[in-house]
Amino acid sequence: MTRRIIIDTDTAADDSFAMLVGLRHPEAVLEAVTIVAGNVAFDQQVENALITIDAAGRSGEVPVYPGARVPLMREWVEASAHGDGKGNRDWPVPTQKPSGERAADALVRIVDANPGEIDIVAIGPLTNIATAVALDRDFAAKTRSLWIMGGCDNSVGNITAAAEYNFYVDPEAAAIVLDAGFDTTIVTWTLTLRRALWTRTQLEHIAEIGTPLAEFFTILDAPNLEFNETVAIEGSTHPDSLTAMLLVRPDLITASSRRFVAVETRGDMTRGYSLMDARAERNAPNATVIDDVDAEGFYRAYCDLLAAG
Ligand code: CA
Repeated sequence: MTRRIIIDTDTAADDSFAMLVGLRHPEAVLEAVTIVAGNVAFDQQVENALITIDAAGRSGEVPVYPGARVPLMREWVEASAHGDGKGNRDWPVPTQKPSGERAADALVRIVDANPGEIDIVAIGPLTNIATAVALDRDFAAKTRSLWIMGGCDNSVGNITAAAEYNFYVDPEAAAIVLDAGFDTTIVTWTLTLRRALWTRTQLEHIAEIGTPLAEFFTILDAPNLEFNETVAIEGSTHPDSLTAMLLVRPDLITASSRRFVAVETRGDMTRGYSLMDARAERNAPNATVIDDVDAEGFYRAYCDLLAAG
C-alpha cells in the first residue's frame, strides 16, 4: 500500500539512505523533508538533504523545510559517526534550495490538509515533532502514524551507556512526543545492532551493483564504517533506513510488542534513557516497539532500491 510520507531528519549518511527509500521506493510518496538539529552542523544537514534529492534524480520535486536549529532546552550535541554526512566529498551544488517555511509549520500545515493520510518518519532528535505538537494540539490525532528511530531496548546506547543519540540530544522533545498520542512505532539502536549492521562483504556487494545510486551510497557510508570499527562495531549501521523501509515493507517485521516507553529527562548519567515496559497491567502501552525483523530481507530490499537507481 502506497504511503504518503514526511521524513524528519538530521541528514547525514544513513539519514540520506532513509530518504532514498522515500524518494525511490515504489510504495512511497515523499511529501516533504524537514530538517532538525542533530548529527552534523545544521546548514550542512540541509545541504546533505538537497544533495540526496539530487542524487535520487528528484531535484525540485520534494520540498526541504529547515526546522529547529537547537534542541528545546539543551545545548546541541554533535554526533561523530558520519564525517560531514556526505562522505567528506564535494558534490555538484544542488539546484533546489530549501523552502522558506519552517519545518514545524510545514508539518502542521501538511498534516492538517491531509488528516489521517500522512506517515511521519522521524529519524533525528524529536524537536520539530514536539514543536508541531505544541503548535497544533490535534497534530498527533491527525497524523496517520509516527515511526521513530530512537532509544534502546533497556540496553546500552551509542552516545552514552544509557542513551541512544536521538533521545539523548533532545530528551524533553522525545518525552513530549511519546506522550502526545501518536500511533507510534519505534525502531531502536538495540535492534539496529542485531539486524541492520552490514558487513564489509555486504558493502562490497553493494559497491558492485554499479549504479550511480549505489556509488552514492558507498561514498556516504564510508565514514560510518571507519568510525564503527573504532568502537568495535564490525560494519556500517542503518537504523534510519531500516525505519523508513519497515514503513513501506511491514512484511519485513517478524516480531513487535506493545510497550510503555518513556524517556528520562532529569537524570545526569541517564539523560535520554528510554524505559521500555511490556507489562501492560503496570503501564499502559503508548508505542509499538519493533523486536525483530528479517535482516536479510531488509538488506536485499535496500540492494534492490540501489540497483533500480
Ligand atoms: Ca538520523
